[in-house]
Amino acid sequence: MKFRYLSILTTTILLCSACMKGESVDLIIHNAKIYTMDDANTIEDAIAIRDGKIIEVGPEREILNRYRADEFIDAQLKEVYPGFTDAHGHIMSYARQMLSVNLVGSRSYNELLVRLEKYQSRNQQDFIIGRGWDQSRWKNDEMPTNEKLNELFPNIPVCLFRIDGHALLANDYLIKKSDVLNKVANDSELSSGGYFIYDSLENFTGIMVDNAMNPILDILPDFTNKELSDAIIEIQEELYAYGVTGVHEAGLKYKEVKLFQQLIEEDVLNLNIYGMLLPTKKNIEFAHKHGVYQNNNLLIRSFKVYGDGALGSRGAFLKAKYSDKHDHQGYLTTSVKRMKEIAEICNETGYQMNTHAIGDSTNRIILELYQNIYKTTPDHRWRIEHAQIIDPADFALFAKAGVFPSVQPTHAVSDQHWAESRLGRNRMEGSYAYNSLLSQFGMLAIGTDFPVELTDPFLTIHAAVNRTNSENIPASGFQPEEAITLNQCIRGMTTWAAYASFQENELGTIEVGKDATIVLFESPVNASKTYNPNFAYMTFINGKKVYSVE
Ligand SMILES: [Zn+2]
Repeated sequence: MKFRYLSILTTTILLCSACMKGESVDLIIHNAKIYTMDDANTIEDAIAIRDGKIIEVGPEREILNRYRADEFIDAQLKEVYPGFTDAHGHIMSYARQMLSVNLVGSRSYNELLVRLEKYQSRNQQDFIIGRGWDQSRWKNDEMPTNEKLNELFPNIPVCLFRIDGHALLANDYLIKKSDVLNKVANDSELSSGGYFIYDSLENFTGIMVDNAMNPILDILPDFTNKELSDAIIEIQEELYAYGVTGVHEAGLKYKEVKLFQQLIEEDVLNLNIYGMLLPTKKNIEFAHKHGVYQNNNLLIRSFKVYGDGALGSRGAFLKAKYSDKHDHQGYLTTSVKRMKEIAEICNETGYQMNTHAIGDSTNRIILELYQNIYKTTPDHRWRIEHAQIIDPADFALFAKAGVFPSVQPTHAVSDQHWAESRLGRNRMEGSYAYNSLLSQFGMLAIGTDFPVELTDPFLTIHAAVNRTNSENIPASGFQPEEAITLNQCIRGMTTWAAYASFQENELGTIEVGKDATIVLFESPVNASKTYNPNFAYMTFINGKKVYSVE
C-alpha cells in the first residue's frame, strides 16, 4: 500500500515538473501506440508537436520529461498512424455525384427509373443529371436502353452517368439537343476513342462510351461554386472521419484548380491535395507559368492522361478481342501522338505524367513511352493509374522503366463477378495483380478511385490483404496469390503515397521534422478475415485538430 502511494506521488511530481520546465511545445499526445511507419517500423508511445511539425517521437517518460505543452492528449493506448492518403480519388466528381440523382446501388433498371421519378417530383429540375448506375449488378449484365426514359421524360434533357464515369445513358431529348450523333460521326477523335451502343435492331440505345460522350459533356450545366464548395466540405469531413488527410485528385480542370485555391484562401479546405491536371490548354499554360506549384496544402506538379476507358463499359484497350464481345478490343482515348506531346510537356515543366491505363495493350504502350524519361531521369516517379490488366510478359517493364503502379484494391473485389467474362480465364493471371506489381517496382500508391468506390480506407485494407469485399466474398479470396500484407497496404496509403507525390520529406511517416498530420483510430487497425468498420478518433493536419468524435 505504502509503495503504491509512493509511486503515484512520484508520477505526480514527474508530471508537474514536466509542466513547469522543459522545452515548450504546442501539443503532446502520449500513452499511445504510435506506428511511425519509419523504415524499421518503430512503435513509440508519445509525440511532441510544435508549429504543425513533429518535434520528437519517443518513449512516454522521455517525451513527458523533456517537454511542457499547452495541451496534453492521453490516447489511452489508441493506435496512431500517419494520416492516410487516398492516392487516387475524385473529390470533384464525388461533389457532382452528391449534387445529382444518386443511382449508386440500384439493383435494376426499374429501380433506377423509380429513383429518377421520385427525385424529379421533389426537385422539378429542368435538366436531370444522375450518377452511379452499374449494369453489371443487374440481370444479364446488359446495358440499358433509353426507351422508358423517353416515356417518362419526353420534354427535358436527362443524362445518367455509369458508376465509372466512362459511359452515360441519355434520353432522346438530350441526344437531339446535343447533336451528338452527327458530331461524333464527323470527328475521328471522338469516334475512334469511344462508341455508341445499338440494340439488335440497330436502334441507338442512348448509351455512349468514353469520347463519344464529349458533345453531351460540352452542354452539361455545372453546379454553382457555392453548391460545389458545400459538397467538397462535406466530402472533407467524411474523409477526416476515416483518418484520410490527403487525396491525389486524379484529373482537375482549370476552373476546379481555381475553386480549390479559393477554398484554401478561405481556410476551409485543409485536406492535403495533390492535384493532377487534365492536359487542357489552360492547364498546360498553368504548368508552363508556375512550374511546380505549391499553395499551402495544394501541390500541383503532374498531369493526368486518360489512356483508355474502363473494363466494365468495354472501353479498356486490350491486346486481343474481348471474350464477351468478339468484334471489339476497346481503344485508346488519347492518341499515342498526343500522349507523346504531353510527355514532352511534362519533361519541360518538371511535371509527373500519370496515365490511366486499364487494358493490357494500353499498359504496354505507356510502359514503352515511359522508358524515354527513365533514360534521363531514373527517379521520375511517373505513374500508371490502375495498371489493371497486364500481360505477364510486360510486368518486368515496371522495374525496367521505373514506373510507379497506382492501384485501387477495392476494384479487384468489385469486378470479381464479371472480369473473367470480359477477359477469359487466361488473361486473369496478370489482372488486379498488386503483389506482382509491388515485387517489380517495390512500392504501390494505393487509393480508392472514389466515387467509383467508397472512400473507406478499411475496405481498401480488407480488399488488399484478404482479397474479399465488404461481405467477405469470396471466402477464399479473389486471386489470393495477389494479396499484399497489412503493412504494405498501409505504406501504400502513407509512405509510398507520399513518395508517389514527391512529398516524402513532409508526409508519410511520423518522424522528426515532418508535418504533424496524424490520426488516432478508434479501434486497432487490422486485417481480420471479416470486414470490421473502423473510424478516426481524432484527425490532425499540420498539428491542427480537424476532426474529433467528441
Ligand atoms: Zn479515377
